Amino acid sequence: MHIVQIASEVAPIAKVGGLADVMMGLSSELTRKGHDVSVLIPKYDCLTASHDLQLKKILSDVPSYFQGTLHGNSIWQAKIDDSLTVTFLEPHHAKRFFQRGAIYGFQDDIDRFLYFSRACLDYLKASEKTPDVIHIHDWEAASIAFLIRDGEFKERFAKTKVVLTIHNMDYQGRCGPYHLQEIGYTGEKESFRHPNSTDVNLLKGGIVYADRVTTVSPTYAKEVLTDEGAKGLLDVMLQNRQKFSGILNGLDVRYWNPESDAFIPHHYSATRIEPKKENKWALLKELGMKRKDDAPLLASVTRLVPQKGVTLLKAALQYSLELGIQFVLLGAASDPRIEEEFVELAHEYKNHPDVRLILQNQEPLAHRLYAASDLLIVPSIFEPCGLTQLIALRYGSIPIVRRTGGLADTVFDIQTSGRAFVETNGFSFDSADVESVRAVLMRAYQFWSDKKGWNQLMKQGMSADYSWNKPVEEYLNLYLLPI
Ligand code: ADP
Repeated sequence: MHIVQIASEVAPIAKVGGLADVMMGLSSELTRKGHDVSVLIPKYDCLTASHDLQLKKILSDVPSYFQGTLHGNSIWQAKIDDSLTVTFLEPHHAKRFFQRGAIYGFQDDIDRFLYFSRACLDYLKASEKTPDVIHIHDWEAASIAFLIRDGEFKERFAKTKVVLTIHNMDYQGRCGPYHLQEIGYTGEKESFRHPNSTDVNLLKGGIVYADRVTTVSPTYAKEVLTDEGAKGLLDVMLQNRQKFSGILNGLDVRYWNPESDAFIPHHYSATRIEPKKENKWALLKELGMKRKDDAPLLASVTRLVPQKGVTLLKAALQYSLELGIQFVLLGAASDPRIEEEFVELAHEYKNHPDVRLILQNQEPLAHRLYAASDLLIVPSIFEPCGLTQLIALRYGSIPIVRRTGGLADTVFDIQTSGRAFVETNGFSFDSADVESVRAVLMRAYQFWSDKKGWNQLMKQGMSADYSWNKPVEEYLNLYLLPI
């Protein structure tokens, strides 16, 4: 099958969150299963690479339509590894849409990603091969679902199936109706008008026009069919529920592998777990924290946004100190108010022997933290899937999560899940309040003294299968369903 994946991120070179990991893991696994997979993202000037990214220009002037006229685009390609080649679209547009030093956060984000989406279709239209499936992700690529059924694209892609995956209902791409004119869309717009407004909602348009719509875990798929979870889009979700499903994300287990991870100093596995400790001592030393043989190390690797439970994270820090747990937070904030709060906290604890807050997005440090920590907390208010708990499990760091969305589908509490111990892998709590955080930390700390049980729990987490193998089968089934 010829499958084209289109999104705003792909790991490890253009990553803000889990979307990037999904693009990498899903696309690599589809390629390994023998499919012809293209991954299309913008050519950002801030692509990051641990090795030299060998970019090759394959086309230098692909025309695409925007705001009434044609603009040129260069198309580049680079091999990320044996199973992943990424195609980059570089607009020649005077606004230098992707030469801004960051992936998101600009006033004209709508224009940037509408331009990109339309240009992807213009590029694909000019290509020889016709995709069997175009799989688009989030609002940034959602307009492809309706553009492709309009005007000049309609016939060319009549047999191409469009699958939309929603990675987070919070981000919908709300804009003015004139934005649709910019990309030359002439079709019906009424069905994707933002509820009670004259605005257009790009994600809604994607939901209405895509042939299949998915989200990233079965529990989140149920939550977005409720008033609270649908974030204003309940009606359209219910109207389209027959083409909607939840497929749990996998993990790229080649990239996230404590046996071979190039970012961690000491490699280990479920059957050779002892070197994990060395990673902990190395990290505590690196961060100038005290080495304590009897204290667990609790980590958080997160974007600092309300969704991730910032108040609960702060409570986790306080209670960790009370209980004698060491705590490291690696978190990046985009909201200046939240950033300020955490900068203050980071400053307050900057010389503390048991706490560090590192307010950055740092891929290598994230790997060292998963490898070093004994516990990882994910107290999200809502969580479409969540990958940090899966990575933690793979690295023998026991997850503590709030039971919501994909966290509820992947973490099973040793006491409250109702499962036999051998079928559990962590700790969870229900209420999004600080008392629940305190109680769950207390339970985890008590369990810490049972060294044998702890080791067993680590091994159970490390040896489970979180790979893309099964989710990819589910996506393939979906790709094969008739339009
Ligand atoms: P989301 O996509 O909502 O941010 P996920 O749990 O799905 O959350 O995915 C988070 C991904 O981003 C993981 O790969 C995690 O390691 C990474 N990540 C999150 N915050 C940071 C950070 N501050 N530094 C480095 N990596 C981070």
